[in-house]
Amino acid sequence: MKSAISTWVQELQSQLVAWRRDFHMYPETGWAEFRTASLVARELSQLGYDIKLGREVLSEQSRQGVPDTEELDKAWERARKEGAPREFLEPMKGGFTGVVGILEGISPGPTVALRFDMDANRLNESTFKDHRPYREGFASRHPGATHACGHDGHVAIGLGAAHILARLVPNLSGRVLLVFQPAEEDVGGAKAMVAADVLTGCKYFLSGHLGFGNSSLGEIGCGQEKFLATTKLDAVFTGKPAHAGMNPDAGKNALLAAALAALSIHAIPRHQGGADRVNVGYLVAGSGRNVVPERAVLELEIRGETTEVNQDMEERVRAALLGAAQIQQVGCQIDVVGSAPTAQSSPALIGQVRQMAQDQPWFKEFVTEARFSGSEDVAYMMRAVQDQGGQAAYIVFGTPVGTGHHTSEFDFDEEVLGQAATIYSTLTAELMAKGKVL
Ligand SMILES: [Zn+2]
Repeated sequence: MKSAISTWVQELQSQLVAWRRDFHMYPETGWAEFRTASLVARELSQLGYDIKLGREVLSEQSRQGVPDTEELDKAWERARKEGAPREFLEPMKGGFTGVVGILEGISPGPTVALRFDMDANRLNESTFKDHRPYREGFASRHPGATHACGHDGHVAIGLGAAHILARLVPNLSGRVLLVFQPAEEDVGGAKAMVAADVLTGCKYFLSGHLGFGNSSLGEIGCGQEKFLATTKLDAVFTGKPAHAGMNPDAGKNALLAAALAALSIHAIPRHQGGADRVNVGYLVAGSGRNVVPERAVLELEIRGETTEVNQDMEERVRAALLGAAQIQQVGCQIDVVGSAPTAQSSPALIGQVRQMAQDQPWFKEFVTEARFSGSEDVAYMMRAVQDQGGQAAYIVFGTPVGTGHHTSEFDFDEEVLGQAATIYSTLTAELMAKGKVL
């Protein structure tokens, strides 16, 4: 079986690259993955998977950070023009861009879920001549969006695993769920899929990321992930405009409140209970130089080494926002636009991942302390499966990553696509092989 999988992966390698480059050319940001998700749905359905998508796999009220209708409709229309298959595109309208492919084995057994995120970053891709996607003609065709985190690769890996698992059906006992998740970047999508009961009854859950601190091919990380718990907040300050020369005293200054809040937030002392982060990443205010500013918008994020640290920091950030509003006598509306807890891989699965990795001819090093200091809303899914008695693992697949994640010259070594597809499909087959030794 192992040699069959490695032969199939070799046969698939050029297809994996083609998928990755296609998704790279047409990047879509959170909740607007219309083209990506509908192409995924078509591919899975052609392979014989049952498909669930749209509102069937996303709870509307649990979605976080959804763009406004106008932006979503524009993205939907663009996807239609760029070749998204209509039958799958239709039910995704309004930002319901999740897909689950279901594959039944030949006899009863455990449910194994694999999760892949699909969204791009809000960033322009580099047009520097040495940046490979640009040089080789597959750079982003969507201004303001690019795959700078490798989720284009994740989608390709997911489709590769889908192909291999479909061929393995005669050896599978149980059910495979391939979960293609929208809106990971602002940590908004996983929660909505969990709330739609996508993972109910799931016994084993696998997900992962290419790159991050694991920067060489053949390096596999799984273990102490240390995802940072996170909360993303938007704050809107509303004051009162007035003539800045004649009667400034009649105005209520929203700009000053926001500026004060930004400084206070960054001045919050470090937490005793573990690492924390705060960042005010966006602030716009006012309407003109001679008017007391009426409105200010501030976007920020909080991270913590534990869910508790994150919660404490969130409380203090809220106090800073409301305190600043009070001093300036303006209103302050705070919205949570994304959040994720921390999570840990299950020890038994970590052992299995390690063994599987060591069996691969390309294997170089196993890293238990996966060098991952970001946040990942996959934590919602891992916790959901572990809370119902199942096991979850998060795997980091090593590859060089150009100038790094979330930068305009991010890129990765496409060899990692086949390696990740191999690990996912072999591990899934093993978990579903009913005591058979593969
Ligand atoms: Zn990512």
